[in-house]
Amino acid sequence: MVGNRNLTVDLMLTGKCNEACPFCYGARKPNASENGVPIYQNHRLEMSTEQWKTIIDSLYTIGVRSFNIGGGEPTLRRDLVEILKHIKSKEEPALVYISTNALILSLDTELRQTLYGLVDVFGLSFDGANTESNVQMGRVERHYEANRELIRQISIEMPEKAVKIGTVVSSVNENGIADIGAEIQKWWAETPFNLVIWRLFQFSPVEEGYDNRHIYEIGEATFNNIAAQIGSRFTDINVVGRPHSVAENAYFLVLPTGELALVQDGKHQSITEPLISLTSESLINIIEQHTDTISRVEENRRWLPTEVIL
Ligand code: SF4
Repeated sequence: MVGNRNLTVDLMLTGKCNEACPFCYGARKPNASENGVPIYQNHRLEMSTEQWKTIIDSLYTIGVRSFNIGGGEPTLRRDLVEILKHIKSKEEPALVYISTNALILSLDTELRQTLYGLVDVFGLSFDGANTESNVQMGRVERHYEANRELIRQISIEMPEKAVKIGTVVSSVNENGIADIGAEIQKWWAETPFNLVIWRLFQFSPVEEGYDNRHIYEIGEATFNNIAAQIGSRFTDINVVGRPHSVAENAYFLVLPTGELALVQDGKHQSITEPLISLTSESLINIIEQHTDTISRVEENRRWLPTEVIL
């Protein structure tokens, strides 16, 4: 068994997203639309609901008790609730952390209320302190307001719910990071919420984002300096920086296609065939060959709450 609460596996439920951030590993060419909103897709093949349940069962069997639900944008999957209910139906509950761009969740009250009962930690993102600076980073116009609104909603509807804020730090927004901290303090003073961490990510040139590295790249020393300054200025916030060198090999990702992958050399490198066709024994053997990744994943996700509240 690899199981302990610190081994988090990232489930990329979908390659689709309703944003197309140029620094992201995802695709930027719209190839579908939903209700008039363009949808971007970086994996055409996606596991079905039943296939995801099988993958979750395999990971659970080998002892994984912590899942990051991401994509793409996971709320684009109509079976999201069914998949999360499957995770939470296990005898020993697993921790569920969801990474979302808030565009749907801030508008869909019913979905949001349902997720309060299924998600332990909500991960939101601000790359600037206002709409303009987020758009400059490549976010869609509504990104800032949607994330601000979701924080407001959580703070009113479920103030004890754990929230993580993520910020990609790059040469585009490096001078505006402190402004985000000041905004967070202001929001918290208005309506307190349970901010467990503000994570600063050095821009990582991975997959599609690699092509735009000339726009976003920022040196590790500069990044570490910014993270240290922000940490000492906002002592009431748990600020933790993640340099790119730490991101390498620090994730076990299940791709939308169902393969287990690592982040290596700017790519998502598959290390298995789709997990639906692997036995638990084979899966554990493969994971145990990656001891460095196991330690890095544990370190990278040390901030996650150790207790499942739900
Ligand atoms: S960073 Fe998030 S919101 Fe932006 S394209 Fe990637 S998955 Fe979508």
